[in-house]
Amino acid sequence: MSADDSGAQRPDWGWAAPGRVNLMGEHTDYNDGWVLPFAIDRRTKAALRVRDDHQVLMWSAQSDDPGTAVVTTTDTRPGEVTGWASYVAGVVWALRQDGHQLPGLQLWVDSDVPLGAGLSSSASLECAVAAAINDRLELGLDPDRIAALARTAENDYAGAPTGVMDQVASMRGRAGQALLLDTRTMALEHEPCDLAAAGLVLLVIDTRAAHRLADGGGYAAVRAQCERAADLLGADALRDVSLADLDRLPDLADDGATLMRRARHVVTDNARVHEAVAQLRAGAWSDLGRAFTASHTSLSDDFAISCEELDVAVDSAVAAGALGARMTGGGFGGSAIALVRFVDVDAVGDACRSAFADAGWREPAVFAVEPGPGAGPL
Ligand code: ADP
Ligand code: MG
Repeated sequence: MSADDSGAQRPDWGWAAPGRVNLMGEHTDYNDGWVLPFAIDRRTKAALRVRDDHQVLMWSAQSDDPGTAVVTTTDTRPGEVTGWASYVAGVVWALRQDGHQLPGLQLWVDSDVPLGAGLSSSASLECAVAAAINDRLELGLDPDRIAALARTAENDYAGAPTGVMDQVASMRGRAGQALLLDTRTMALEHEPCDLAAAGLVLLVIDTRAAHRLADGGGYAAVRAQCERAADLLGADALRDVSLADLDRLPDLADDGATLMRRARHVVTDNARVHEAVAQLRAGAWSDLGRAFTASHTSLSDDFAISCEELDVAVDSAVAAGALGARMTGGGFGGSAIALVRFVDVDAVGDACRSAFADAGWREPAVFAVEPGPGAGPL
């Protein structure tokens, strides 16, 4: 290994891409529905050096195993590397699939988005790397195209079958604004979201519970059930289904009752996205808080992707005065978000920490997030 291959000669950080929270619309994105995320003021930074061969070397300040993953831009393919390197190599692969010839690269990343906490560190990593390569090599890709390629990297190279919300939020986020995204048409509207002006804070309660597979399935399994429910109802996607349609499901399949509950969450959460936009526009904060909690109940009871830690975080936050709270992200662990008045912030944090202590769990990390800018040069 030469001195230059050791990672010691990192250039200045040149690009950054944020994580996200999702205010409403969970597991609606792969059902052609709507989502309402915002990019958070936590991000992954990237630095890039072009090599004169075709090797890709990468270092992460968050990895104990830096610099060891090496692929080549000319022939890397899914399965070649696993773990964190697969998100970076996946971006290189997706760009090549899109017809771009890439030279060798050295990539450095450092992030203050907690990993695996449901705040989309994975998309912030992919988007930071993709934005860096796009700018440095002048590929001319627009932010929506970068989001699509980053999603391809995550789905087809890293092997996580997620929807496109995380990458769009990371690429298109704006300070002080949430994003209303129609995942069928990809139409995007920026919605003002000035919580501070309303005397409010959005608290993240990172349960630090590892993503776990609940009984009967993880992300891929519930996604398949949603697709089957739509199929049985003769619809292209659950976006096109009404609550009344769902009553037919129990007669259409042995597991129709389960499919009905899963689908009911998607149908009602889609409706809650539109309600939440109206509540944001009207400053109807108490209603928005109640909608958060209703969404959590739906995710926990109908969709069955919550876990004890998330339920305790939501219940304690609401009992301590939060206007409402819900899990955010893929589920089975990760983080909850709570809409909280300034004056109640300490009480809500204390209540969550003490409920976790009583249960004998690790202390949750509780911190505020604000809508921040999307990916770009630093
Ligand atoms: P989330 O996106 O909610 O944080 P995921 O499970 O989708 O959770 O992605 C987390 C994974 O992404 C980590 O386990 C790691 O492999 C990778 N990752 C994200 N950010 C970094 C980083 N800065 N350095 C190394 N790996 C990272
Ligand atoms: Mg992720």
